[in-house]
Amino acid sequence: MSDDRTANPALTRRGFLGGIARGLLGVGVAGVGVAAAGRVRAKDDLWQIDPFKCIQCGNCRTACVLEDSAVKCVHDFAMCGYCDLCTGFFHPEPNRLETGAENQLCPAGAIIRRFVEEPYFEYHIDELLCTGCGICVKGCTDYGNGSLYLQVRQDRCLNCNQCAIAAQCPSDAFMRVPADRPYVVKHLGRQKEGG
Ligand code: SF4
Ligand code: SF4
Ligand code: SF4
Repeated sequence: MSDDRTANPALTRRGFLGGIARGLLGVGVAGVGVAAAGRVRAKDDLWQIDPFKCIQCGNCRTACVLEDSAVKCVHDFAMCGYCDLCTGFFHPEPNRLETGAENQLCPAGAIIRRFVEEPYFEYHIDELLCTGCGICVKGCTDYGNGSLYLQVRQDRCLNCNQCAIAAQCPSDAFMRVPADRPYVVKHLGRQKEGG
């Protein structure tokens, strides 16, 4: 079993602070990718999740028309506490604060935990593994600061006329957003529906 504290010796305090900015950029870059791909016209509205309304019911994993859901967990680094005991990563009462599979909340092993410096750790989502189940989001929302949340990844979404997940969402969390603002960046506050 690897020692978390030696897994990424190159990560420094400067890199850690850089990661805060990277989180916001990560969301923005994905949005630019959609526009560049020309899959949507600039005026089109897109489906997106209001993370302030989502109750992590699990439908985002199962109800998408795509076999691999277009909904993934994202990490808002500007909100994260970089906690050693991350309640999105660990079971409520982990045996040890390390990356043993028995300690991890994510059933897909999609969260990568990296040591930064005492007492900080950085958490990344591997979207190829993430199923959009929302389990980590619930842990972070209920016991942490809510920096993990679900978003429709616009480079995956087919932008169905009627989103199959929206039709089943119990908290009315799906909304239409303008294509030039395709993501909700939670630390910037609530985005109004349709603009
Ligand atoms: S269906 Fe709605 S409440 Fe359920 S996980 Fe998706 S956005 Fe959240
Ligand atoms: S717990 Fe679920 S939503 Fe969170 S990273 Fe793992 S697969 Fe994705
Ligand atoms: S619009 Fe279609 S592809 Fe996109 S999240 Fe909803 S069901 Fe999935």
